Amino acid sequence: MIKTTNKNIKKILLKKELTKEDIIILLSSDIEGRNILYRKSAEIKDKYVGRTSYYRGLIEFSNICSKNCYYCGIRRDNKFPVRYELDDETILSAVKFAFENKFASIVLQSGERNNNLFTKRIENLLKKINKLTNSQLGITLSSGEQSEEIFRSWRDAGAHRYLLRIETSNKDLYYKIHSNDDKHNFEKRLKALENLQKIGYQTGTGIMIGLPFQDYEHLSDDLLFFKNFDIDMVGMGPYIEHAETPLFRFNKMLMPAKERFNLTLKMIAILRIMMKDINIAAATALQAIDPIGREKAIKIGANIIMPNITPSENRKNYRLYENKPCIDESAEDCTNCLEARINIAGDNIGYGKRGDSKHYFNRIAL
Ligand code: SF4
Repeated sequence: MIKTTNKNIKKILLKKELTKEDIIILLSSDIEGRNILYRKSAEIKDKYVGRTSYYRGLIEFSNICSKNCYYCGIRRDNKFPVRYELDDETILSAVKFAFENKFASIVLQSGERNNNLFTKRIENLLKKINKLTNSQLGITLSSGEQSEEIFRSWRDAGAHRYLLRIETSNKDLYYKIHSNDDKHNFEKRLKALENLQKIGYQTGTGIMIGLPFQDYEHLSDDLLFFKNFDIDMVGMGPYIEHAETPLFRFNKMLMPAKERFNLTLKMIAILRIMMKDINIAAATALQAIDPIGREKAIKIGANIIMPNITPSENRKNYRLYENKPCIDESAEDCTNCLEARINIAGDNIGYGKRGDSKHYFNRIAL
């Protein structure tokens, strides 16, 4: 086992490529070591993506889901959340808010459903959004695993980006947090990610940090997975337990929330160093642990922030984890407080700019 010293950390940060062992050393760094890491990642952020953060107006348009992920508060078998699906008018009014406030991009997020009624509805909705905004908005979809044909139809209808979190790139760990069945199949999920990239989406994925059974080796492999996959966008957040889920019974195994938070910041910093031109989201889950958690992530490497513009009466029913922040505030409140805080973190907001992943354009140009 290699001893973590700050001398080691400085030496590692001079390397062109990080190995699994290097990443593990960086993840184990103490306060002084992690500050060296953060200085380096902030420097790389400045140089490669600049000190601008981009908004993605998040619309959680339905919490109905056909899957049963062990960690998720809106999993199919949880009887507590009131299930909802926003109508087109409500969604389009949130889109209008984003457009008029120069967010330039939105994320449409829902639970996963594969039936024709749902997939066609999204296709039609995308067309309506493009009509309303003269195809000027960047549109990210996050509605789970779908067939290649459906992904293509949504891309053709005007979606630019897709987020499909792998949650962990380790197959054994994947089956500790999902059942091993046709609905939750690791290979299928990987295949879906590959299809998204092949079809031409700006492709995003992500993981949870601080899961029960997860160690530094898993996390190090996750970062290498993003790199090898040549991913365009990443969202990583601390795992936050939800009492109404099966994974909650392993609660005693968890590291304290603050440690999960610090580990997430280290993961963001290392990823920025490894993949200089990708988009990295400052996940809302960071704010559930630290009130200025997202801003801390922005400071050291993240460049995407997702203000929630879902009508506040629905937000309380879209709780993938507990203590989700900002569920009572209006979209206006949410974004006003955010701008000032991002400025304090050293970034401007890229109003009116879509903030597409630079990595995507560099990748397809090759
Ligand atoms: S994580 Fe996503 S797919 Fe899994 S149960 Fe929750 S909403 Fe459904």
